[in-house]
Amino acid sequence: MVREAATILAQCDVGIANVEWLRVSAPSRYLDFSTPVSRELAISAPVRRPAIYLVRNTLARPPFQAEAIGRGNSRTRPEMADTVWITAGTRDPGIALAHELAHVLMNSGEHSDEPDNLMRDETTGANTRLSVKQCTQLRENARGNGLLEP
Ligand SMILES: [Zn+2]
Repeated sequence: MVREAATILAQCDVGIANVEWLRVSAPSRYLDFSTPVSRELAISAPVRRPAIYLVRNTLARPPFQAEAIGRGNSRTRPEMADTVWITAGTRDPGIALAHELAHVLMNSGEHSDEPDNLMRDETTGANTRLSVKQCTQLRENARGNGLLEP
């Protein structure tokens, strides 16, 4: 999943230099994504950002298979900024991870209508491209938010 996401993000000259895997033992109520509970998890087990949480399911409504929390949609939940939450049932998880990471890195919830674009709201095997403009936005905003090393 990480390798596939890294291959997709490489078109923007962005690489994943290292990944730290953490397995957290927690009460079962933390297994499913929901803002109030997942927020507690993010506070009690702080990790470097961007952070990817692999969760069982989501209690959020509407129930997105995967979710990104950037700076723009974390004002009421700042401890969740720069995180991605991927549920076990996510289709095309490598592409979904790249899509959600791109939301975080670009600090944008915007979707694209361009054919085959990674940021179409539907993540499928064909949707992996990023435009030059998206790549520029991704690098600049990620660097500005301290999520990208020089
Ligand atoms: Zn999206």
